[in-house]
Amino acid sequence: MAGSRSPTIGIDLGTTYSCVGVWRNNRVEIIANDQGNRTTSSCVGFKETERLVGDAAKNEASSNPTNTIFAVKRLIGRRFSDPCVQSDKKIWPFKVIEGNDDRPNIIVDYQGEEKHFAAEEISAMILTKMKEVAEAFLGCTVKDAVVTVPAYFNDAQRQATKDAGAIAGLNVMRIMDEPTAAAVAYGFDKKKNSSVKKNLLIFDLGGGTFDVSLLSISNGVIEVKATAGDTHLGGEDFDNHMVKFLVEEFRRKHRKDISSNPRALRRLKTSCEQAKRILSTTTQTTVSIDCLYEGTDFCSTITRARFEELNVDLFEKCIETVARCHKDAGIDKDNIDAVVLVGGSTRIPKVQQLLKNYFSGKELCKSIHPDEAVAYGAAVHAANLSGQGAEEINNLVLIDVTPLSLGTDVEGNITDVIIPRNMPIPTQKSKVYITTTDFQSAVDIKVYEGERVRCEDNNLLGRFTLSGIHPAPRGETEMNVTFKIDSDGILHVSAEEPVSGTKKQITLINREGRLSKQEIDKMVQEAARNRMEDELLKEKVLAKNSLEDCIESS
Ligand code: ADP
Ligand code: MG
Repeated sequence: MAGSRSPTIGIDLGTTYSCVGVWRNNRVEIIANDQGNRTTSSCVGFKETERLVGDAAKNEASSNPTNTIFAVKRLIGRRFSDPCVQSDKKIWPFKVIEGNDDRPNIIVDYQGEEKHFAAEEISAMILTKMKEVAEAFLGCTVKDAVVTVPAYFNDAQRQATKDAGAIAGLNVMRIMDEPTAAAVAYGFDKKKNSSVKKNLLIFDLGGGTFDVSLLSISNGVIEVKATAGDTHLGGEDFDNHMVKFLVEEFRRKHRKDISSNPRALRRLKTSCEQAKRILSTTTQTTVSIDCLYEGTDFCSTITRARFEELNVDLFEKCIETVARCHKDAGIDKDNIDAVVLVGGSTRIPKVQQLLKNYFSGKELCKSIHPDEAVAYGAAVHAANLSGQGAEEINNLVLIDVTPLSLGTDVEGNITDVIIPRNMPIPTQKSKVYITTTDFQSAVDIKVYEGERVRCEDNNLLGRFTLSGIHPAPRGETEMNVTFKIDSDGILHVSAEEPVSGTKKQITLINREGRLSKQEIDKMVQEAARNRMEDELLKEKVLAKNSLEDCIESS
């Protein structure tokens, strides 16, 4: 019976904001959090006495900058030595250090102690928050979820996102690509009778990232054809440009420089984000902050035209990326059948106008809120996977592709591709390799991802040794190497030498950089303990408050 099972939820775990949806009463409900917001800040704050997750953490960020963690999606599944991690950590107010196996560790001051967290644990706190938001709305416990990730996320990033789900006590039924989720939200998957291939362009401009994806659909099958984007372009940049402009204005008006005061800058940034949102619907608004700096109040009027002028370069850069994406896929812009808006920043009228112009006046798909479309699609897919959805959304077929080529090293330190990029998954490919030295008894198999020829220019995902192989002169012993990607996009690699029968397989679970089963278990327990601590703390505070009330009223 459908009614007896707790529903499966769809979670868009975003870099700046997350969103949760569920299929109920034959439609998707996007669920508002305890503050009444339909998206929740992907932010975790650690304080002397408590841990805040979501909007509350963001609100306190300016008074607690070194212990407020945001943008953890930029760390998840990456190595500490990754150049992206190295450059991000320089500009973050919180501390990230090198942990075990080249994994990044986030350091905070919590309850008077220094605490270390893996990116998976911080993500798990956000997922737990989203789970609780759903549970409060549904009035029951939630166990299963579909979680979305960017189309370009590699195996390690997908796995780490799944692990974060496990730490949060969620069974992640499927990792789904964000652009695919947006396409599902618009029901493009349902047009099963149409055997004519349609091309969709998903334009996702969020808080800190910009992703363009080209999808093709035929007979209800969705396939990601190409992706492009910028990992550091989004709403925060628009906010920062406004901040810069107003810092100048403050200098002119009050002859004071606030640029070296982090607290003043944070407060100004929060006001600028609000002003930016307002300017998406009105043509003028004010930024007003009491006691911004050295007792001086600040008040300024900003017009939509000014906001656009400050950011037009970035908006135009987005359009150039769109051009690059469809050209990469070999698809002419006139052959794009629909353009779908995703991400909060696509609410900006100028962005919509430039995009519409680029597509010669074509109407953009924006009937679903752009910042909710991904969670919407995830919720549809979640209901579909658990058989709880309506008839019309069942039997959905989704095809994701491998974002990067996968291969192994051959003589001369060259990467030999086994699964090429943009291959629909699940997929499995095998190749035969031979020994390179006489009477070789073992072979070291390295697994790489990337498009470069030299192994050292690609990303080493993992390695293992196949030993006990049949000894023979070089070139005479053959080994089969198989790469298999399952429907979650997770890679399993096996090698077999048929004469001796020796065989070895790795699911890149124990790959360097990934958490081990024990570590995950430990983190699950830790998360449960934290939940209990939080509960106890809440009770303690409530008890203290009621005691005080009692004393006051007596
Ligand atoms: P994520 O990057 O985590 O996927 P979203 O897609 O929710 O997040 O995008 C968040 C960004 O959208 C933020 O920078 C936010 O300020 C911006 N945003 C939200 N609503 C509006 C709006 N009405 N006008 C302009 N920008 C908006
Ligand atoms: Mg997003």
